[in-house]
Amino acid sequence: MIEENVKAILAGLPPDVLLVAAAKARTADEIKRAINAGVSIIGENYLQEAEAAYAAIGRKVSWHFIGHLQRNKVKKAVRIFDMIETVDSLRLAVKLDEECARLSKVISVLVEVNSGLESQKTGVFPQEVEGLVNKLASMKNLKVEGLMTMGPRSGEPEEARPYFTETKRLFDRLQNLPNVRMRYLSMGMSNTYQIAIEEGANIVRVGTKLFAERDHG
Ligand SMILES: *Cc1c(COP(=O)(O)O)cnc(C)c1O
Repeated sequence: MIEENVKAILAGLPPDVLLVAAAKARTADEIKRAINAGVSIIGENYLQEAEAAYAAIGRKVSWHFIGHLQRNKVKKAVRIFDMIETVDSLRLAVKLDEECARLSKVISVLVEVNSGLESQKTGVFPQEVEGLVNKLASMKNLKVEGLMTMGPRSGEPEEARPYFTETKRLFDRLQNLPNVRMRYLSMGMSNTYQIAIEEGANIVRVGTKLFAERDHG
């Protein structure tokens, strides 16, 4: 049951860790059940799905974008989302800043780090993160608040740990930047969120473990 899953996950989180319910391919009804059980942040990967869920649910929760955001979707995205966790280029950031300026809105953003240094993945290479964060910090309608990483997509959960450790190290280094307050480190999914928390995550994004109906017995 979604309700039981949510309660069990929330009960196991340290008080300073935020749960994002990763809701891709879930119906508005499923998302509502998660909200009734205590979820307060919804993570969406696709704008169309987000629009449908947002129309049914509205502003009683926060909305985080956690997918790959195309620039031609930014105009619509900034109307829904409170935070974009996946800023991975200056071009995307400039577009976000422009569209938020039109709405007189300041949007929170995280920089997505390609911690695995794998070229096929989205995200900014670690050595380029500080430069991008500095540029975002000067944009009036963006509030850069931290880092997000996926880690490896397959393999044993423990294999993700070194990627999380590296991203935390980078996050800590950025604490010394002027004009930026790095508050959020978003790492870990269903199989890896406990490991991510041990390595310093304070946002975890959980989908399968939260929404899947488990067989009993
Ligand atoms: C789907 C997704 C998650 C959640 O993954 P689960 O393994 O289902 O918990 C977290 N983060 C992102 C970016 C996702 O796309």
